[in-house]
Amino acid sequence: MKNVLISGASVAGPALAYWLRRHGFTPTVVERAPAPRPGGHAIDLRGVSVDVVRRMGLLEEARRVAVDCRGMSYVDATGRRVADMPASFLGGNGVVGEVEILRGDLVDIFYRATGDEVEYVFDDTITSLTQTPDGVHVTFERSAPRVFDLVVGADGAHSVTRSLAFGQESRFSRELGCYVAYFTAPNVFDIQHWDLFHNMPGRKVAALRPSRRPEEAKVLFGFASGPLDYDHRDTERQRQIVAEVFAGAGWQVPRMLQAMEAATDFYFDSATQIVMDGWSRGRIVLLGDAGYSPSPLGGGGTGLAVVGAYVLAGELAEAGGDHAAAFAAYEREMRDFVRQSQKLPPGGVNGFVPRSQLAIRMRNLSIRTLPHLPWAGLIEKAVNRSDAITLKDYGLTATPFGEPGITRSR
Ligand SMILES: Cc1cc2nc3c(=O)[nH]c(=O)nc-3n(C[C@H](O)[C@H](O)[C@H](O)COP(=O)(O)OP(=O)(O)OC[C@H]3O[C@@H](n4cnc5c(N)ncnc54)[C@H](O)[C@@H]3O)c2cc1C
Repeated sequence: MKNVLISGASVAGPALAYWLRRHGFTPTVVERAPAPRPGGHAIDLRGVSVDVVRRMGLLEEARRVAVDCRGMSYVDATGRRVADMPASFLGGNGVVGEVEILRGDLVDIFYRATGDEVEYVFDDTITSLTQTPDGVHVTFERSAPRVFDLVVGADGAHSVTRSLAFGQESRFSRELGCYVAYFTAPNVFDIQHWDLFHNMPGRKVAALRPSRRPEEAKVLFGFASGPLDYDHRDTERQRQIVAEVFAGAGWQVPRMLQAMEAATDFYFDSATQIVMDGWSRGRIVLLGDAGYSPSPLGGGGTGLAVVGAYVLAGELAEAGGDHAAAFAAYEREMRDFVRQSQKLPPGGVNGFVPRSQLAIRMRNLSIRTLPHLPWAGLIEKAVNRSDAITLKDYGLTATPFGEPGITRSR
């Protein structure tokens, strides 16, 4: 059970490859893109996911490149701040994660930590999976067929591994009625360590400034919508959809739309949760968004992927070759954490994109008054669910650095 194929080289795939190497497995990662994909907004690492990155020996590096975010504000159409949430808001556990890092930077750190020891095959995808008693026979779009002991689908909410092994996406996806787009734009917003948000009924725009690249801003567009008809790979059509939805909007939106046309890291997707009764079929198992995406609205997808990678590799090592026992233990350990992380923040989609001007004003008012209310602590608990799992050590001994798992051979 040593040769493991992982589909997807974003967060979950390289994190799993790291832990599998540490436990003595031989992972191969296949990624459809020609290189690790840059792009995305800032993502949160909190609680146990910070602990896993620390055990990887990569926490210092993650902190070094982290976004120095000191708070968030909602602005009106003229740019005037109407509701502020400093990092200390909700006891310091609400709006800013322990490590707030650009998704692309985290992917880059995980990739560089594994790139010398792990075989990465870019620009390719699995086309068929056939399980036999001796392994999984895999065919690819470009590479020659190969046999692996195990296959892990870490290829996101629209996972091809899941479609091939478990059935079509619609059986497992819960569309939340909302779409998001992310891209990099020139920093014309005068943002200094502070994220800015602007809501219009059913629509939202956010901009943040990465600390190390002050000339750049990371932009998010979000909007409520019924199912849209578009091809996942047709980014021109996706840009057109966003431009139409945000036409005529105020604040800095026209400049952002202009920047979107030139952006090389444009990413667009529906806000989708993946909910499954089981994450494995024989020798094939799912990890991260492929098996249990909480959607970008919940914000916990990266933490789940990082922790899931640690647990899956650890259980495989502990089961000593019995993949069925390992997959069952992985599910047992992760199930409650996943269930908690898939609970949407208060208000759900309507909290993300309030549907009327009145609802936007009420939300701004509640942000201004919330810290003074006696039940603020309860809301803080509802927002922060990052500790709903206790990590095992999986036999990794302490290193000279005093942390389990940091036995890097390079
Ligand atoms: C470019 C990009 C930007 C993102 N930006 C944000 C963001 O700003 N905020 C947020 O909350 N979440 C964002 N996400 C999602 C976020 O990364 C995940 O929710 C979370 O980190 C869990 O990661 P994952 O590795 O399970 O899945 P994902 O990050 O979705 O990664 C899946 C990987 O699999 C690859 N892949 C897909 N199909 C195939 C295939 N057939 N064969 C091989 N590889 C395949 C994809 O190219 C991707 O690299 C983004 C994802 C991507 C890919």
